[in-house]
Amino acid sequence: MIENSENEKDSDPRMKMSRRENRARRLNVKQMWERGALDDHLVKERWSREFKNPRLKKIKNPTTHFEPENKLEGLVLEVHRRTCEVRLSDNRVVTAEYKATVVDELGEFPAVGDSVVLGVTSEEKYAVIKVHTRRSSLVRPGPRDRLRQELVLAANIDQVVIVASVEQPAFNYGFVDRFLLAANLNRLPFILVLNKMDLVSEMPKAITDFMKIVDQSIAISCETKEGLDELKKALQGKVSVFSGQSGVGKSTLINHLVPEAALRTGAVRHKDGKGRHTTTSSSLFDLPGGGMVIDTPGIRSLGLLNIDSNDLAKIFPGFFKEELFTCKFSNCLHISEIGCSVRKALSSGELSQARYESYLRILNAKE
Ligand code: GDP
Repeated sequence: MIENSENEKDSDPRMKMSRRENRARRLNVKQMWERGALDDHLVKERWSREFKNPRLKKIKNPTTHFEPENKLEGLVLEVHRRTCEVRLSDNRVVTAEYKATVVDELGEFPAVGDSVVLGVTSEEKYAVIKVHTRRSSLVRPGPRDRLRQELVLAANIDQVVIVASVEQPAFNYGFVDRFLLAANLNRLPFILVLNKMDLVSEMPKAITDFMKIVDQSIAISCETKEGLDELKKALQGKVSVFSGQSGVGKSTLINHLVPEAALRTGAVRHKDGKGRHTTTSSSLFDLPGGGMVIDTPGIRSLGLLNIDSNDLAKIFPGFFKEELFTCKFSNCLHISEIGCSVRKALSSGELSQARYESYLRILNAKE
């Protein structure tokens, strides 16, 4: 009787299985797992998918599944929800899948700028099977309630370039400051690019104050082409990640630096520039003179960095010369404490009010 009904089911795959049979199958998967026949991901969702789609088992150990001749090295140009664009050593660009369930084996989710190993399947499909260790990265923290869900905006970079405009929109101190802080925390040099110089006769004071504390600042105009040669020189031979608020002229600038950028961005860019992992991606471009540019999507703000208030007070860029903390109390937050060097510098005019206020905004946002 039972055999008969099984046969019937086999011949008619549309027929729904009873709950009891389903359970028996699940237990079977559990036993397989206990015997080590399944991979060691004890994830409920994975089990059920494993059962529904046995092909998934093929990637249970992606690093050993592919023969050496089926493994290729590549550079990640763009990352989407489940796939990424990868450039191989022969310059071919292919789309490769990556699976969230095998992130432990990958090492990390791929990010733009990553150097990866791809496996080629018999159907000529590509899968990311390993992400090589990064030498550096610019990381964006997750939302307030999910701080640990970090998003790597760019990997293996040499410097952070922030494009700001001197006018239209006005220079946004807080935005630039957060990136400066992030660059400092990641020990990456920071270049401030001030665009739209054609709109002002002289540099506004708040910006000149800021220029004093960054590694390099370059005043440019995409309109008059002023300063572009200096910028090209600073980018030559380096991997630079570009960020900037929308409207500052970042796209105009990148299209000028990389003529092929205009062709690629239009096709993949989404309107929602808030940077959700699913819809937006940074993009990597080669500079004609050598070096690369990673363009990050329009980010409204970098979000709060995962750093404790006391540490922030100690490393805030521009507060201490050579980062040597000189306040009387080691837990000084520079608010009203006695013997505070930061407030002393503020009253003597050595430190600008705008800079101090920017610090207070970041500090308050943390509490
Ligand atoms: P994005 O949002 O940062 O990518 O900004 P866009 O590149 O789209 O530029 C925003 C606006 O600024 C556009 O209307 C550009 O034409 C304009 N723009 C870009 N660079 C300059 C510049 O150097 N001077 C002036 N006056 N306008 C510029």
